[in-house]
Amino acid sequence: MTDNAKTTAKPATQATLQAVRGMNDILPDDAPLWLHLEDTARRVFEQYGYRFLRVPIVEPTPLFVRGIGEATDVVEKEMYTFEDKLSGESLTLRPEATAGIVRATIQHNLTYERPQRVWTHGPMFRHERPQKGRYRQFHQLNVEALGFAGPDVDAEQIVLLARLWKALGLENSVSLKINSIGDPADRRAYREALTVYFSQNVEALDDDSKRRLSTNPLRILDSKNPAMQTIIEGAPRMLEQLGTDARAHFDGLRKWLDSAGLVYEIDTRLVRGLDYYNRSVFEWVTDRLGAQGTVAGGGRYDGLCESLGGKPTPACGFAAGMERLVLLLREGLEKSGESATPAPLAYLVHQGDAAAALSWGLAETLRDAGYGIVLHAGGGSMKSQMKKADASGARFALILAEDEVRDRTVTVKWLRETGQEQQTVPIDGLIAWLTAVTV
Ligand code: ATP
Ligand code: MG
Repeated sequence: MTDNAKTTAKPATQATLQAVRGMNDILPDDAPLWLHLEDTARRVFEQYGYRFLRVPIVEPTPLFVRGIGEATDVVEKEMYTFEDKLSGESLTLRPEATAGIVRATIQHNLTYERPQRVWTHGPMFRHERPQKGRYRQFHQLNVEALGFAGPDVDAEQIVLLARLWKALGLENSVSLKINSIGDPADRRAYREALTVYFSQNVEALDDDSKRRLSTNPLRILDSKNPAMQTIIEGAPRMLEQLGTDARAHFDGLRKWLDSAGLVYEIDTRLVRGLDYYNRSVFEWVTDRLGAQGTVAGGGRYDGLCESLGGKPTPACGFAAGMERLVLLLREGLEKSGESATPAPLAYLVHQGDAAAALSWGLAETLRDAGYGIVLHAGGGSMKSQMKKADASGARFALILAEDEVRDRTVTVKWLRETGQEQQTVPIDGLIAWLTAVTV
């Protein structure tokens, strides 16, 4: 205890500190699923030539306002924006990754020589109402291809996700929806058609949608309000009004998906929640997470780079919500009864000073050989140490007490397999013994 602590009594009323609402701890028992997801994603993304990049969590606010669009839920009400105390600059915790990645691409001239395939993962921040599958700090996997104009790359990213689902054992939990929202000129005409339609039915709109009617009528299609679904169902469809180029792109995408044998639904209502998209949009959805059914969403954003001050760069990307994927993975595990917690190979139990010293060196030697060894810390009786060994999930307890130190041996106790006798193994032969039993 420091002097300071000695003199400062804790006030009786001091509340226990809690994490910010909607921002979760990922505790060690949950972590294996997260690591499994990250490792699997990395392996699959690298198979397709996507290279890792990491951009800051905080960016200048105008990046998101210009990138995502002023009249979107994210920019209107979900961003964590604050003023930098020293510079007075307006900064924002990133609500998504694409804008930052495009900013980095422009800043470092990444697409100057050749197109780029990149990916990243990490926390995003949105001030939403927390519920299952929807949080204020959440995590995404992001994949972006910059400098590619053809629908082959859109299809590549969709097929890559299909491979990821398979690698995660989720292929029967998700399904694919695609749509095209056309090019800007197509969308201008469509916007007018929507404005006419929704104005004729204005009494059926909720307050949000009434506001959107003048600012961004396309967003009305994205409404999650169940009461709005009938009116949305009757709205004109973008897909029927595509221009020649967007139509050819969409047909191309379908051709690639068909040739890959992917099953998909064309969902003419699919518009996505961010303004930068054009042409292809897609979502992978599940019916296992209630209203939070979208596990990955993406599409083409050919105009974003130029609108953020770069040269025109056709691009395509997606984001997958990691919390939702972990929920699906956990559900799968609960069904199969498997545990995902990795355990050390052995737990090293020791009694007495000489055994403690010997154990320390032995643990390091075993780790040099590549084995996972937990060395008991904190003293205690042999019985209590053995309890901890068992709880660690280790396959063996390695025991060093007075007798073992004298004989330069280790007593090996099998903790998982039944019917295995306790054994005495010479310290010098321990690695060979472990190698023999772990092949
Ligand atoms: P939703 O329609 O569920 O609000 P969105 O269209 O806002 O999603 P995107 O901005 O496209 O989502 O983000 C891509 C993915 O990130 C979503 O499909 C989802 O899996 C995940 N995601 C988005 N917002 C959250 C959140 N608040 N909490 C957890 N995951 C989220
Ligand atoms: Mg949202």
